Amino acid sequence: MSSNAPGGRLRLGRGVVQANVRAARRARPAETGGILLGYRDGAGIVVTDAVEIIDASASPAAYRRRRRVAQEALDTALTREHDALVGYVGEWHSHLGRQPASRQDRLELADLARLAGDSVALLVIMVRDRQHQLDAHIATPAGVLPYPVVDMINVLDARLEILGRRQHA
Ligand SMILES: [Zn+2]
Repeated sequence: MSSNAPGGRLRLGRGVVQANVRAARRARPAETGGILLGYRDGAGIVVTDAVEIIDASASPAAYRRRRRVAQEALDTALTREHDALVGYVGEWHSHLGRQPASRQDRLELADLARLAGDSVALLVIMVRDRQHQLDAHIATPAGVLPYPVVDMINVLDARLEILGRRQHA
């Protein structure tokens, strides 16, 4: 399947990425992450919002996704969402250094897509010193697509909600 196949395009709200990068820097020396909100169309996934879900036990090399907490965060975010099209479209977390999504990250993404019965995105934000890089993947119920096309788009009112507390904050 080529990267231009239907479903293989990930459009990321610029403000969402900026907010996630700030959250990733703030969380250091631990990782952080959360869920991505947006919608799907014939070309792929559009990310319009994100929620940071703080994992109090996160470390420099681990961010744990808790299914129940993620579901609650999603429910809370959706009650505030005015656009009925907007829903869960994926996950994001930070990596300190230049590590792209791990094999485990991609396995979990494939599981989430099977669970959702739809395509799901993973955005890994690699932060190191003052620089950051993005590593993005899309999985469908059939598996992880290779190399999605990633575009940055402008989204009005992009925001990052933060849920939970850090132990060292
Ligand atoms: Zn990871």
